Amino acid sequence: MTNVSLATGEQPLECALGMFHQAADRLHLDDGMREVLANSKREISVTFPVKMDDGSLRVFHGYRIHHNETRGPMKGGLRYSPEVDIDEVRALAMWMTWKCAVARLPYGGAKGGVTVDPKALSEGELERLTRRFGSEIGPFIGPERDIPAPDMGTNAKIMAWLMDTYSMNQGYSVPASFTGKPISIGGSAGRFEATGRGVFFTTQEACRHMGLNLEGATVAVQGFGNVGSVAAQLFAAAGAKVVSVSDSSEAIYDANGLKHINEIIEAKREQGCLPPEHPGDRLAREELLTLPVDILIPAALESQITGANAGDIKAKLIVEGANGPVTCAAEPILEEMGVPVIPDILANTGGVIVSYFEWVQDLQSFFWDEKEINDKLERMIKSAFKEVAAVRERDGGTFRDAAYTLAVGRVVQATQDRGIFP
Ligand code: NAD
Repeated sequence: MTNVSLATGEQPLECALGMFHQAADRLHLDDGMREVLANSKREISVTFPVKMDDGSLRVFHGYRIHHNETRGPMKGGLRYSPEVDIDEVRALAMWMTWKCAVARLPYGGAKGGVTVDPKALSEGELERLTRRFGSEIGPFIGPERDIPAPDMGTNAKIMAWLMDTYSMNQGYSVPASFTGKPISIGGSAGRFEATGRGVFFTTQEACRHMGLNLEGATVAVQGFGNVGSVAAQLFAAAGAKVVSVSDSSEAIYDANGLKHINEIIEAKREQGCLPPEHPGDRLAREELLTLPVDILIPAALESQITGANAGDIKAKLIVEGANGPVTCAAEPILEEMGVPVIPDILANTGGVIVSYFEWVQDLQSFFWDEKEINDKLERMIKSAFKEVAAVRERDGGTFRDAAYTLAVGRVVQATQDRGIFP
């Protein structure tokens, strides 16, 4: 990877490196430490065949990138999407290192993915692809090494196949090898909702910090999958007005607040799209981003608020549910406009926090109830917010600057404490 001293780009890896080097400047890191942390520790790239239902063979490409394991075994999701490439996974793996450090989880960062459109495969093809990919990365993962979890395009069922594949290859059951599994095989209560719930908790804290009343505030949520749908449901339950939600096809908008968020969730789950009959105006999906709302939650994918559309944003607060939705070209424009951005490495840590709880529960074979999980999540994520806000108060700059200063500083400290082998 190359050194980038300014965070100005639109691509995830440019942004990840740019943000890291800015933090490295603030922390006065020497060139050696910079180079260690700007690079992945290990990069696994696999090419593998899958038997399709019609008898043909198709070849797929997949990755598992280990960015850093200084603070503990590595953790990070697995993404199935046609856009997956090695640079995207590198950026996401690096973000996981910082995310775990911000939340004080005893983990390093990793990420993986397969370049595939999972919706274009039959269930049988998806299972064969998953089990083969799981076997290909099997030697490099495990409860003490690297514990993958769901991300875009993957879910609890895929984690179950992966955990089973890993266990079959080991010869015994290893529930702590993957998180985000179904409850029946060692999954955690509250894991499915964890990322959206964490986005909601950080938004509550950010509103308190800004003196913005969440009750009655207008909210737009981009992306209506795991993160976005749960966040929208929690905002509506807390008395906020969710005026718009979107998926990859379109957005629905009702200035008075969308009615019956649960029905939209149900329809999306059953029909795979936002319900055509639901009351509200239909907008092009990107129009959601520039609606006149108090709070904007981009919870779909990276590089959505860019140098090109940042100037049109009307929200008073942006909370990043997705990874990397605000590019580093957009961030200075938003800063200039006085729009705070609560960064991904703080706002969407709910998923990895409850994945950590799942791993701990699997290792000790002793399970907690949902209330205990949600209470612990709320405490951890709100305390991370307060730590980040305190650094911002001390140093100035954006919430992202403060989160990076904290996270990179913690990984540097751990590296110095362990020393360089041999
Ligand atoms: P998901 O696959 O469940 O949902 C993604 C949603 O985004 C879908 O509704 C899809 O239709 C929509 N979408 C795709 N392109 C869009 C576009 N251009 N405009 C509007 N909507 C679009 O994925 P997810 O798990 O909810 O992940 C969403 C984001 O959150 C990703 O960036 C992911 O890395 C991040 N994230 C997820 C978790 C987790 O636990 N699932 C944890 C941390 C971060």
